Amino acid sequence: MGFRTDSGRHNTMKMIIFKKFDDLQTYLTKNRAKNHQIGFVPTMGALHNGHISLIRASQAVASMTICSIFVNPYQFNDPKDYEKYPVSTEKDIEMLEKATVDILFLPEVKEIYPYGSSLEKYELGYLETILEGRYRPGHYQGVCQVMSRLLKGIKPDQLFMGQKDFQQCLVVKELIRLLDLRVEFHSVPTQREPDGLAMSSRNSRLNPEQRKNALAISAALQYIRYHLSKGDPAPVLGVARQMLETAGFKTDYIAIAKSRDLRPIISWNGKEKAVALIAAFQGEVRLIDNMLVN
Ligand code: AMP
Repeated sequence: MGFRTDSGRHNTMKMIIFKKFDDLQTYLTKNRAKNHQIGFVPTMGALHNGHISLIRASQAVASMTICSIFVNPYQFNDPKDYEKYPVSTEKDIEMLEKATVDILFLPEVKEIYPYGSSLEKYELGYLETILEGRYRPGHYQGVCQVMSRLLKGIKPDQLFMGQKDFQQCLVVKELIRLLDLRVEFHSVPTQREPDGLAMSSRNSRLNPEQRKNALAISAALQYIRYHLSKGDPAPVLGVARQMLETAGFKTDYIAIAKSRDLRPIISWNGKEKAVALIAAFQGEVRLIDNMLVN
């Protein structure tokens, strides 16, 4: 456990691992009394520097940072993707200790979904019908199942999630609103490899050739960012789509939308805040990425 000292620096006490909400809450209740601000970083493990940037963002504002690792079965619409999701818990624990995370919450499936507990239906409206919602039916309901359980069970003051999953950020903000939870949401910029590929746990499944091809995603997003001009975005999207196809991608979607609510942009006025988003398969590996255009 790494309580901050008065100087704001961590001491060398070790990270505590909890597997049960009750044990975690007992511990947090004691510390809440000492005015700790709790920052929470939910993950599915196979950690990389993108995850660590969320932890750093939490440590910058909260006095105690909790990271969770839980591969949530309900958010995988493709069972093969769930089976193949990379797991590297030992290495993750080392990374989190090195990053001086205070608490790791590492629940088993039965802790999050106790036998007989029923799943809620969340009214996400338009957000669930487009982009990831459209291509991964049920995905965001699954995200909401796990996030509502984690947020209610942990009761953090601050929540940190990655802009890499742009639509997920909007969904979780909506969930917080629907459940009227007292937690402040922070969206953290996407961390990239030096060549531009967005860091992702799924990158480890790419073979060397696919890894090279994968660069086309960030290149296509950059292309859109620099070439989008007033009017119909279709020609710019057409070139970007071609860039993906040339690199062997099978594209689920490539879109430009209002960053506020992901409504489509039919004709851009040059001012409206916009985001370009891509989801595409390199072989069996589905990658997503996005970039703010302005
Ligand atoms: P995951 O383990 O993939 O569920 O991701 C856990 C959190 O890390 C989510 O909030 C993601 O948006 C965030 N994340 C994933 N990749 C990156 C990245 N490259 N940069 C910043 N945050 C990321």
